[in-house]
Amino acid sequence: MLQVAKKQYAVIGLGRFGSSVSKYLAEMGFEVLAVDESAQRVQDVANKVTHAVTADSTDEEAMTSLGIRNFDVVVVAIGQDIQASILTTLILKDLGVPYIIAKAQSELHGKVLNKIGADKVVFPERDMGLRVAHHLISPNILEHIELSADYSIVELVIPSFIIGKNLKQLDFRTKYHCNVLAVKRDDELNITPSPDEPLHEKDILVIVGKNELLTKLEQAYGES
Ligand code: ATP
Repeated sequence: MLQVAKKQYAVIGLGRFGSSVSKYLAEMGFEVLAVDESAQRVQDVANKVTHAVTADSTDEEAMTSLGIRNFDVVVVAIGQDIQASILTTLILKDLGVPYIIAKAQSELHGKVLNKIGADKVVFPERDMGLRVAHHLISPNILEHIELSADYSIVELVIPSFIIGKNLKQLDFRTKYHCNVLAVKRDDELNITPSPDEPLHEKDILVIVGKNELLTKLEQAYGES
C-alpha cells in the first residue's frame, strides 16, 4: 500500500494560541515541534507534543540547527513582540521553509508579514471578536466565516417563525442575493437541499453571501 508521509509541523511561540495549535495538531496524530524562548512555556507543552525545545527563533543558527527547514509547515505564533515575529518569519523564509503561517496582532502587522513572504496570515483575536459580535447581535448565528473582504459564510439556526416554510418561500436569493449551500438536520448535512422541503425546528442553514446583505439577513432571521 502507498504510504503517504504525514506532514510535520513546527510551532514557534507558545502563548495561548501557539500552545493550543501545537496540542491539537499532536492530538490529531501529527508530529509537532514546539519552540519557545521561555523554558517554562516549553515545559508546559512538553508532554503533549513530539518535541519541545527552548530556543530564540530570531537566532538563525539556532533555527538551522533545529532543522526547521525540514518541516512542511511552520506556525509563527508570536504576537506581542512584533519585531520577533517579523524577524522569525524572515529567517524561516530565507531558510526555505515551504509554508509559513504567521499570527498577526494588527492589520499593519499582517501586511508586513504578507510582504515578507508569510504564506498565510491569521488574526485570531480579530476573527474571534467578529464571531462573538455576530453571535451577540444575532444569537441564532452559530458560525461566521470570512471568505474574503466582501463575502462570508454563516450558519443560522432557523428562527421559530420560519419552521414549516421552505427555501422557495424564503427566497433568500432574491431578497438578499445569498445562496443556501446546505441544510444541517440532526448532524446530517444535506448539500443539495430541496427548495420545496419544509424546514424543521432546529434546522441549520449554511448560507454564503455578500457581507452587507448577510448582515441584513442576520438582523431579520437571527433571533427567534
Ligand atoms: P497569546 O495571545 O497566544 O497568548 P501573544 O499574542 O500574547 O500570545 P506573546 O505572548 O507575545 O503572544 O508570544 C507568545 C510566545 O512567544 C511567548 O511564550 C514568548 O515567550 C514567545 N516568544 C516571543 N519571542 C520569541 C522568540 N524570539 N523566540 C521564541 N519564542 C518567542
